[in-house]
Amino acid sequence: MLARYRITPGAVSIQTVMSRRPGQHRLPELSPVQGAEMPTLGEGATPLLKAHGLAVDLDLPNLLIKDEAQNPTGSFKARGMALATARARELGIGRVCLPSAGNAGAAAAAYGALHGLDVHVYVPESTPKPIQGEVVAMGANVVTVDGSIANAGAALKPVAESNGWFPLSTLKEPYRIEGKKVMGYELFYDLGRLPDVILYPTGGGTGLIGMWKAFDEMERLGWIGPERPRMVVVQTTGCAPIVKAFKRKEWDGATPIKNPKKTAAFGLRVPGALGDFLMLRCLRDSRGTAIAIDEIDLLDGAKAMAQKLGIQCSAEGGACVAAARQLRSKGWIDRNDITVIFNTGHALNYGE
Ligand SMILES: *Cc1c(COP(=O)(O)O)cnc(C)c1O
Repeated sequence: MLARYRITPGAVSIQTVMSRRPGQHRLPELSPVQGAEMPTLGEGATPLLKAHGLAVDLDLPNLLIKDEAQNPTGSFKARGMALATARARELGIGRVCLPSAGNAGAAAAAYGALHGLDVHVYVPESTPKPIQGEVVAMGANVVTVDGSIANAGAALKPVAESNGWFPLSTLKEPYRIEGKKVMGYELFYDLGRLPDVILYPTGGGTGLIGMWKAFDEMERLGWIGPERPRMVVVQTTGCAPIVKAFKRKEWDGATPIKNPKKTAAFGLRVPGALGDFLMLRCLRDSRGTAIAIDEIDLLDGAKAMAQKLGIQCSAEGGACVAAARQLRSKGWIDRNDITVIFNTGHALNYGE
């Protein structure tokens, strides 16, 4: 279920929006949460950085990095959780829960603290201790579960039901997508157009689905025409359900992965996603593609982003660097394409 708005063309002009203060809440007309007085932690309006050194290395002169690591709690999970928790608060919900690979839990803990919610996070046992500690430090409860995020979700479900905790799991409620869609708007604010290619490290897919929704809204607002970026789903070779389904042209859903391999890209270890069919349709309709990256290459990608650009790059962001390299060398990305890589998290989030 996605949030829908009544949009009349010209209802909000791009000039009006650009005259407002940058940030996650720049377009209240297309947001479920109203009120400029809503407390925030400063989420959104992350920089779209020119990738100088890396651009040369990858032979992509128009390569850009959307640096989502600069969000509160060091990942783009802040965007979705900011809205989901604010909306929960508005609706009088006091206790929320979610399974998380780490970053969503940290964001939920932070925004739960901001809005005075009780937060319960179930994480795979492999979730790095520093991020578990961060969640606890912000006053949330953490429970560890053997296996992947899917097992954490399964363990949480009955407990949540018997305690009446409201689930903030990916796509179980519509507002996290509404937060993450803002990334799509921000690309347009910064470029004055949409990019040619977007590389997105994909787990549950909220950002991908959210941006795709944003582009449709922008067309209905009369800001853009039917043109769209080619969307690229980037996963790991040890857990690539969307890549597999895309290759088989299975547009209606993906078969969950039974034994998702461990990876430094914790956010991508999602064996099955509720929104799989939405991601697959976005790939089909955007003439996009899906690519799985080996562990050694994603770590290399993160290192390249750090050493050539000085960006604190997550393993998930590193996977997109590797994907850009591979797709450029195959000629799938043209040299002059305006190409955006999402660095979705901070290098230090997972500790070490
Ligand atoms: C959650 C997460 C992802 C995956 O995001 P989705 O929008 O759920 O696909 C990617 N990178 C990082 C760092 C994450 O925390």
